[in-house]
Amino acid sequence: MLDLTILAATGTTLPDAPFQGRHLIGNVWTESAATFPRRSPSHGVTVSVSAQGTEAETDAAIDAARAAFDDGGWSRAPAKTRAAFLTRVADLIEANVERIALLETLETGKPISQSRGEVSGAADLWRYAASLARTLHGDSHNTLGADILGVVVKEPIGVVSIITPWNFPFWILSQKLPFALAAGCTCVVKPSEMTPSSTVMLGELLLEAGLPTGVVNIVLGYGQPVGARMASHPEVDMVTFTGSTAVGKGITAAASGTLKKVALELGGKNPQIIFPDADLDQAADAVTFGIYFNAGECCNSGSRILVHEDIAANFTARVVALSRKVVFGDPLHPDTQVGAIVTPAHQDKIDGYVQAAQAAGATVALGGAPLQVPGLAGEFYQPTVVTGVTTDMAIARDEVFGPVLSVLTFRTAEEAVALANASDYGLSAGVWSENVHTCLDLARRLRAGTVWTNTWMDGFPELTFGGFKQSGSGREIGRYGLEEFLEIKTLCMRVGRTRALWVRP
Ligand code: NAD
Repeated sequence: MLDLTILAATGTTLPDAPFQGRHLIGNVWTESAATFPRRSPSHGVTVSVSAQGTEAETDAAIDAARAAFDDGGWSRAPAKTRAAFLTRVADLIEANVERIALLETLETGKPISQSRGEVSGAADLWRYAASLARTLHGDSHNTLGADILGVVVKEPIGVVSIITPWNFPFWILSQKLPFALAAGCTCVVKPSEMTPSSTVMLGELLLEAGLPTGVVNIVLGYGQPVGARMASHPEVDMVTFTGSTAVGKGITAAASGTLKKVALELGGKNPQIIFPDADLDQAADAVTFGIYFNAGECCNSGSRILVHEDIAANFTARVVALSRKVVFGDPLHPDTQVGAIVTPAHQDKIDGYVQAAQAAGATVALGGAPLQVPGLAGEFYQPTVVTGVTTDMAIARDEVFGPVLSVLTFRTAEEAVALANASDYGLSAGVWSENVHTCLDLARRLRAGTVWTNTWMDGFPELTFGGFKQSGSGREIGRYGLEEFLEIKTLCMRVGRTRALWVRP
């Protein structure tokens, strides 16, 4: 018997009709000739029908953003004005959490409690960006000689394309858009074709907050042609993308034609290293959280643990026991902790990794198959723990993006660092030990953009986030997240006419 914790369908009434998504171009809601549906991964019903953008519609959105930037009404407005707008948006997000969270859950399959947390947490990102807007300043150089004054100023980079994925649609958009706006940029946004609706709802709130014409434009649709055009268009100054490493490489190539700036937040294969002297109860709880949060469909998923050999069997048994208690099931039930997998194709991909690992000699200690949730037609996957994993297996190297934990073992700290760093990715990593020297030593040697010690996935708007290696380039949130959207300009000013520059008269 599997002995998992599963919540059956709640019988909650779903919306009467699918949400209708349209583009927002120059502050006007626009339709397309074609539309595309989104089927709920948990409930199997169509939850939204969206306009399917074309290249011409993408160009129109970029033109609107360009005109708004060049006009200067936003890009040269006092920071106080921009901060006030961002704060109004934050207030409106907070007032609309329920409405947005329901669509977010129905499109992504994530639990409603986590959608609520995602949307209300995103409001805080808007507030934080508002607070940063008024701190922008450059440098002055008053030591270059009696007749020279140097001033380094920061300016908005220009028109920014924002392309987002399906796993945290509202949160990831809010890691980018308010910071770009705080800097004075104008934007074109494309949400994932699987989760367009919360971005459209944000568009409604932007208008309600008094969005100046063309400052934010939204185009719905697929990577081709919409995303590709946003990455290559000559009038776009920067592309910021969150998504898969493969698409990120394509975006870099598309952007190279005009050498526009590219910022990438990509995948991860994030290790948690557990030493024998760790608080093993807390570590087991954090490992369980790290792998099942958002059904493992999370760039920060702690998808591999490196456990000291002496405690590996005992620690794995603890994680398996906790995994049985994690509440899987109907995302609309308030107690559910893990919901549905985003598409049937993705479910197959997850299962493929588990079956391949088993065929290569790994052991499935728990789960390892799709999960039936009574009363629901969607896709769910069992909490899965795979032991005996070795570095040559795909499950140890690739981003599985599902509720599947790989367990590897180590003998020495040196070996743990080498194993952790033996990855194309470098997004995040964790160290569990009660010895502060162990924590600090490893934290400094791990090649990852974020290292957690004795915690996992704690995050704050103030703490910058981003990846080493193929996990991306550039940084989001925090002070550095704002800096990404700025150009730096030097003003070198001659004061008075005390000498000839080159040729004496
Ligand atoms: P994806 O790369 O398939 O799609 C992301 C976005 O890119 C979507 O909007 C999609 O329509 C668009 N797109 C697709 N092809 C394109 C093209 N040729 N040109 C331009 N745009 C194109 O990613 P996904 O499956 O939606 O999201 C999952 C991935 O996102 C995972 O790899 C995950 O690790 C990553 N992710 C990273 C972070 C981070 O902060 N590092 C956060 C969340 C997700």
